[in-house]
Amino acid sequence: MRHSKQRDLILEIVQGTNEHPTADWVYTEARKFLPNISLGTVYRNLGQLVANKDLNTVNVNGIVHYDAFLANHQHFQCTSCGKVFDIEISTKEFVSQIDTKTNHKIDKCQVQLFGICEKCKNN
Ligand SMILES: [Zn+2]
Repeated sequence: MRHSKQRDLILEIVQGTNEHPTADWVYTEARKFLPNISLGTVYRNLGQLVANKDLNTVNVNGIVHYDAFLANHQHFQCTSCGKVFDIEISTKEFVSQIDTKTNHKIDKCQVQLFGICEKCKNN
């Protein structure tokens, strides 16, 4: 019982942000509610949530970020502040060009974009 309570909290924490948190960030947040929770427990629960398809992972520069937004979308990372943003844009044309130019059959498209976010650009 206790374990599913921890898992529910961790899921709520990730669902409560659109900033694609890392396990360390989730751990810091989780400790506000469960001061004795360990980083290992956070990692284990995040892994189970991903296995259950309650969360997705986004690998940015070798660092795993967790994402509760499950619909197909792309990601943009600001190379200045490091934040990861959701980009909701159709990749249909991009994928169909690849289908046409190669003999591959593309099932899934995940684009990672890098640049400077609006906030950093204006600073
Ligand atoms: Zn996302």
